[in-house]
Amino acid sequence: MEKTEDQARPRPRAGIMDIEAYVPGKSAAPAGLKLHKLSSNENPLGASPKAIEAAREVAAKLELYPDGAAMRLRQSIADVHGLNIANIVCFNGSDEALGLLSRIYLEPGDEAIYTEHGFLAYPIYVKAAGATPVVAAESGERVDVDAILAAVTPRTRMVFVANPNNPTGTYVPFEEVRRLHAGLPKNVLLVLDAAYAEFVRRNDYEAGVELVAGSENVVMTRTFSKVHGLGGARIGWCYAPAHIVEAIERVRDPFNVTATAIAAGTAAMRDRGHVERSVAHNETWLPWLTEQLTGLGLRVTPSVCNFILIHFPDDGRHSAAAADDYLTARGYILRRVAGYGFPNALRMTVGTEDANRGVVAALTEFLKS
Ligand SMILES: *Cc1c(COP(=O)(O)O)cnc(C)c1O
Repeated sequence: MEKTEDQARPRPRAGIMDIEAYVPGKSAAPAGLKLHKLSSNENPLGASPKAIEAAREVAAKLELYPDGAAMRLRQSIADVHGLNIANIVCFNGSDEALGLLSRIYLEPGDEAIYTEHGFLAYPIYVKAAGATPVVAAESGERVDVDAILAAVTPRTRMVFVANPNNPTGTYVPFEEVRRLHAGLPKNVLLVLDAAYAEFVRRNDYEAGVELVAGSENVVMTRTFSKVHGLGGARIGWCYAPAHIVEAIERVRDPFNVTATAIAAGTAAMRDRGHVERSVAHNETWLPWLTEQLTGLGLRVTPSVCNFILIHFPDDGRHSAAAADDYLTARGYILRRVAGYGFPNALRMTVGTEDANRGVVAALTEFLKS
C-alpha cells in the first residue's frame, strides 16, 4: 500500500511536509481606510530617492542579465563598512543566505540551534536541509548564551543568533557573543544575523565583523530590507571567511541578485544621509513609543531596533488578538507573534509620526473600552 502511494506521484523528501510555512506580516487595511503597515519592520521614510532613481534607470534595460558577481554592490558595501570585498557575498535577501548556509553545512541527523523567540525562518531552513532544529531557552526575552552552550551536542553543526533579535528587539552584548563563540566546537558554524545592526546605539554592541575576521566558523548576515528601506528589492549580504565564500560560490544561483537590486542597493549603501535620517527618525520615535505605551500600562520589551514588542493584559478583554482587530479596523496593521511564543503580544514597527501617534491614540481608546 505504502509503496503504491509512493509511486503514484512525486513526494517531497522526508521532513519537508513537517515544515510550517513562514507567515509574512499582513498588509491589507479595510476598504477606504489609509493603510499604516507596521507589520514587517519596513522603513517609514521609504527607500533613498537615489536608490529609486538608480532602479528606474536599470528598468530601461531589463533585457540584460545582471553582473553575477554583483561587483558594484559588493564594492559599495566594502567601502562603507571598511571590509574586504573578497569576503562579501550578496544574496536575494539575507533569507537566501540563511537558507543556503543551512543547505551547505547541514545534513540529515545534524542539529542546528536557535533560540526560544528567535526568527522563525531558521527552523524552516534547518528542516528544509533535512536537519533537526533545537531550541535553546531565552531568559527575560533575551538570548541566553549558557542555554545555547548547554544545548550543544556532538551532532550540532550550526547556531543561529539574531543579534539584535526579532521580535523581541533585545540584543546580546559583544562580550557575550565572544563567550558563545569561545564555547562552541570549532566545527560548529555560528551565524550572526545582524538584520537590525544599524539601529543599535549601544557601546557594548558589535554586529560581528571582528569575529568573522578572526575565526573560521562565524558568518555575519545583513540586509537592505530594514534601514535601507529596500525590502521589495530583496538584497542581503554576508561577511564570511574565505573557505565559506568558496563553498557558497559553488551552490549559489549565478544571478541571484537582480540588476535592479544591484543598482538600487549600491545607491542606497552610498547614500549615508538617508541611513542617518532613518536611524535618527527611529531614535526619536522608539523612545517616544516606549514611554507612551508604558504610560498606558502596557509592558513593552526594551528594544534597540525599529520595532517594539507590546504585551497586553490578561484581563480577557484586552488581549493582543482583540487589540489587533481594533487597530486593523482603523488601518493600523501590526504583527501577531503567537508563533514566536508570544500569544498575548503584538510587534509594532516604528512608523511615521502619523502612524505612531495614531496607534497610541487608538490603543488609549481600546484600553478604555
Ligand atoms: C527582516 C529580517 C531579516 C531580513 O530578511 P531579508 O531576506 O533580507 O529581507 C533577517 N533576519 C531577521 C531577524 C529579520 O528580522
